[in-house]
Amino acid sequence: MIVGIDLGTTNSLIGMIEKGRPRLFKSEQDKTLVPSVVYFPEHSAPVVGDQAQSKKAVEPEKVVFSAKRFIGKGAKDIQDWQRLVPFDFSPSTDQMVRFKVGTKSYTPIEIGSFVLKHLKSIAEKELGTAVTKAVITVPAYFNDAQRQATKFASELAGLEVARIVNEPTAACLAYGLDKKAQGNIAVFDLGGGTFDISILRVTGGVFEVLATNGNTSLGGDNFDEALVQALAEEIQQQTGNDPMADTIGRAKLRLECEKAKKALSQEVEFSFSFKSGDHSFSKILTRSYFNQVIEPILQKALEPCLSCLEDAGMPPTALTDVILVGGSTRVPRVKEFVRETFKREPICTLDPDEVVAIGASVQANILSGQTSGMLLLDVIPLSLGIETMGGVVSKIIHRNSTIPTSATEHYSTYIDGQVSVDIHVLQGERELAQDNRSLARFQLKIPPLPAGVPKIEVEFIVDANGILNVRAMELRTGQVAMVTVNPSYGLSDAEVETMLMASFENAETDFEKRFLIEAQIEADSLVRATQKSLAQGAQLLNTEQKEEIERAIRRVERSLTTKSREEIKKSCEHLSTVTEKFAQDLLNHALNNALSDKEI
Ligand code: AMP
Repeated sequence: MIVGIDLGTTNSLIGMIEKGRPRLFKSEQDKTLVPSVVYFPEHSAPVVGDQAQSKKAVEPEKVVFSAKRFIGKGAKDIQDWQRLVPFDFSPSTDQMVRFKVGTKSYTPIEIGSFVLKHLKSIAEKELGTAVTKAVITVPAYFNDAQRQATKFASELAGLEVARIVNEPTAACLAYGLDKKAQGNIAVFDLGGGTFDISILRVTGGVFEVLATNGNTSLGGDNFDEALVQALAEEIQQQTGNDPMADTIGRAKLRLECEKAKKALSQEVEFSFSFKSGDHSFSKILTRSYFNQVIEPILQKALEPCLSCLEDAGMPPTALTDVILVGGSTRVPRVKEFVRETFKREPICTLDPDEVVAIGASVQANILSGQTSGMLLLDVIPLSLGIETMGGVVSKIIHRNSTIPTSATEHYSTYIDGQVSVDIHVLQGERELAQDNRSLARFQLKIPPLPAGVPKIEVEFIVDANGILNVRAMELRTGQVAMVTVNPSYGLSDAEVETMLMASFENAETDFEKRFLIEAQIEADSLVRATQKSLAQGAQLLNTEQKEEIERAIRRVERSLTTKSREEIKKSCEHLSTVTEKFAQDLLNHALNNALSDKEI
């Protein structure tokens, strides 16, 4: 059995398909929506969901929410957020954001794992059996690090990830749009705090995300805030009391405004009342008044929608479907806005809060083999590449590529007269060969030619079963060498995980090492080329010029021992400057020679 999980910024849900119908599990509060909020009591285990939500106002320093915004991110990524959220981020590092709570600190991965563990227990309670495998959704724009971090959170919670699915893809699955032969679908997702717009193409059950856009601080919360602002002054005038003067009054007004907003999604009028100090305020709020209040906020969604259409390369008329996702799409004016922008009636027959979780459950059902006739796509878990000069990795197929797939790269030699090249096939995300997994080694014979002249084509082909075929060919002679490997053989999911975590943690130092090696190789080949030219064109230089070039060569050679990229760069620039005229003279000399016995 596999469950489907929508791990949301504000709320999360868990479900499965039972007898062909979606079933979302309910919390103790009898709700399918579980706030993605974690409360850390002083002396007991973390508490998740509605109970944690209720602690937000009372003990804010012990509550972490919206952790999804920070998943897969480091200290540098959070600068803009620091003044917007009440967290103490002080233990964060460049690799990982951390939330300080009391004397402890937690990563977004750990917060995610607490939420997932809680969801798992909700499902287990209802089913009376253990739940160990899940499909988890992520925003379409999540990068590898964020997807991997989500996977890691799930595994920490004791849930093996059967598949990570894009949220808009899940929404399409919930509406059965995968059964369409072909279509272009816009998924408009307006939640409490975030807005995402995605355009997908479906062809024979396969979804491709064509473009995504959005605004990470636009949502229903802004509607509540706008209504607060609109009413606060009126309340003060009528009651003589400023409802915004203290935090409790402000929070109360905000809750009342959210209530009014929700009511106005059903009714065209709402009788709003609010107690401020000893006085009561009341007013009939109409839907059209509310629409006016939120219009400037809604207009902020227009530009991302238009850019998304442009990036997808299609006018609105090319869309076959528009789907609504997220609680705020219940607002009638939002539906109207979507209709106006995309020139099409949006689909909204499912609960917009549940669409993504239902889609995740549909995917879980497919993966557990309950539905037949579906085309399943698989991806490569780790990148594949070869070792190049200096022990650096050249990636040829990137991880998460859908299989079957193939890619070709071209290389050359480094040393004059080389008669063979070693092809070392590697798997992993690290920058240096030694830190990746070695899959195979083979040799390609080549004719002896000056460095850089042979043209070696390396082709990686991964078939539908995940088997990798590597073919190397010297293009001048047609000489070929090949090898076949099964890259996933012998690697458990846990090992893949470990390798990926290592690649995050070491990313910065790995790149530093790689850049240094690349600079050393470049400097070395510059010295070789200059020495070769000095031997060939000595007659074009006087003693002084020759000595200056030789001194510059020695400076580059010395810089290679310093291991300072900056010094290597400077010495190479110096060598290039002092050889500039010599290079020009050599070129002219060669041209004169070439033309001397030709008649024009
Ligand atoms: P989500 O992040 O998708 O759970 O959406 C939560 C947002 O939807 C919050 O801003 C809610 O106030 C808003 N919301 C939920 N129900 C309604 C409703 N009936 N009408 C308007 N907004 C709603």
